[in-house]
Parts: sequence; structure tokens; C-alpha cells
Amino acid sequence: MIGIEAEDFLSLVEAAHQDPANVRGAVNAYMVESGGETWMIDSGTGPIFGPTLGHMPEVFATLGTDLGSVSKLIVTHLHGDHIGGATMDGKPIFPNAEMIVTEADRAFWTNDEIKAQFPEQFRGMFDLAKATLAAYGDKLRVIEGEADVAPGVTARPMPGHTVGHTGYMLESGSDSLLVWGDIIHVPAVQLARPEVTIMFDTDKEQAAATRADLMTALAGTGQRIAGMHMLFPGVGYLDTLGDGYHFVPEPWAYL
Ligand SMILES: [Zn+2]
Repeated sequence: MIGIEAEDFLSLVEAAHQDPANVRGAVNAYMVESGGETWMIDSGTGPIFGPTLGHMPEVFATLGTDLGSVSKLIVTHLHGDHIGGATMDGKPIFPNAEMIVTEADRAFWTNDEIKAQFPEQFRGMFDLAKATLAAYGDKLRVIEGEADVAPGVTARPMPGHTVGHTGYMLESGSDSLLVWGDIIHVPAVQLARPEVTIMFDTDKEQAAATRADLMTALAGTGQRIAGMHMLFPGVGYLDTLGDGYHFVPEPWAYL
């Protein structure tokens, strides 16, 4: 994390009852069932982040849902923890899905000149994005701005974390859910200190500004929110708390 002193980081993590030596994170992908169709928003990590992640196919099996029934894979941005699960052995894990990505992210993560400007340790991210987009081939759908991506689903550009980082607003009657992608990576830290960024932000200043604007607009409104790195159940509501924010998780419906 960038823009925070170590002792502040430790006190925030401890205040959240987390072990500073082993801060827990979540990587969520969201399944949407609508009008007889099944859509996914992101695909999780797949096998690339080790054994504690990448269990999305098992969840499908538990639910009795066929991976082939997914008709849309709606992507927030082209990082490995969001598209690593989109392919298996180089083929789409959702064989019948169109993959929806922003033109800004597609252009950035497939650009060899930009790739060459990044340190070696980041270049694999470009290779993964390119390979994943190629695997979906002519099933790729590129969007720009506030595009309608599916009935009731509208793109909401939230640039900074990546150039094309995009959230999605899901609306059904008077109900709605804003999937804000990677607006927050470490809830224990960034809810209290939204100005803190992360090394994976492509444009840290823009990422912090986008986060600040969005959280100001959402706090206290009762808007239901989902986030890829919000802790279980990954759905809740944003309220202000002191100089920062508090995420109130939605009570989990066990049945
Ligand atoms: Zn992420």
C-alpha cells in the first residue's frame, strides 16, 4: 500500500481485528441470474493465485449450474484476479459466453510498447490479458463509457486502478446493486483512509480521486454495493464514520 506510514497501517489492521502479519483479503466474482440467463461479473483468479483462491468452478458444481450456461462474462478490468478464472488450459471456461471489456483496458493491456515500459514483474499481466482476450476471440465485445451491457446492467467508468476500470450498476424495478470492482482493495485500511493507494493502481492519483468521489456520493444513501475485494458476504452499504467510512455488510441469507 502507498501513502500510509507503517504504524498507521498496523493500527488500522489491528482495529479491524486482523493479524497484521497475515491480513485476509477476498477475491469475489458475482453471478447474476436475470430473465432466464446467467451472467458473471469477473471470473476470480483461476489457478494463478494459489490454492486458497480459484474455486469458482467448484461453486458452479455445488449450485448445479453449468459453466456453459453463462451467456455473458462482464469484466471490471483486465487484472489476473479478475480474469485469471476466465480460461482453463487456454480455452474459455464459459464456452458460450461473450466477454465484455472496456476498450480502454483492451487497448492498454494489449499494447507491447506500454508493456515494455513496465518492470519485468508486471509484464506477465499483459501476457495474461492478451491471451485471455484471444481465447474469447470473436466472442469479445468491447464497450466504452456508460454502455448498456445487458438488460438492467449499465457500465459505470471508474478509472485509475486501471485506465478502463469499470463498475456496473444492476437495476431491477426499484432495487439496485452497484458492483464497484476494485474501488477498495484492503477494507481495513482504505475505508478509513481512502487516499491510500496500492502498487497495482495504474494511475494512483486518479484511483484515489475516483474512490473519493464515489465514496462521497454513495455514503449514507442506502445504495447496495458489491466489491471484488470486500470481505464476505461481499455485499453491503457505505456509511461515513469519523473522517472516513464504514462498510456495513448485508446480513447473509443462509437459506
Ligand atoms: Zn483486484
